[in-house]
Amino acid sequence: MCLFCDIVAGKIPSTKVYENDYVLCFKDINPVAPIHVLVVPKKHFDDMNGLAADPEGALYSAEITKAIAEVAKISGVSEAYRTINNCGEDAGQTVKHVHFHVIGGTSLTEKLI
Ligand code: 5GP
Ligand code: ZN
Repeated sequence: MCLFCDIVAGKIPSTKVYENDYVLCFKDINPVAPIHVLVVPKKHFDDMNGLAADPEGALYSAEITKAIAEVAKISGVSEAYRTINNCGEDAGQTVKHVHFHVIGGTSLTEKLI
């Protein structure tokens, strides 16, 4: 089991923002902006590559996309938010369970792209 599997299973507490059969979305423990929510599939995929390669990858990707928009709406940042996925250690991935950061609530000026 990994950290986010334990959070999905309720073994480790989190501050839930949104949940359905496919995803759990909860506040990041170390937020970088006023809104910083993690969108996490309930099925374990190591990273974006694992998600893409899995037979259920398309299903979960669609659910993740809808959940990202729902989280932005619930959080009141639908008009302006940033979604980030880090894939691989050199890209900054520290938890090996694919997840998407939804960040907003402030002016997001610093950017690589
Ligand atoms: P990564 O660096 O893998 O893209 O993102 C991992 C994120 O998970 C980090 O932003 C980190 O703050 C967050 N995180 C790590 N451990 C926990 C935890 O136990 N609870 C919550 N809510 N977030 C966590
Ligand atoms: Zn996991």
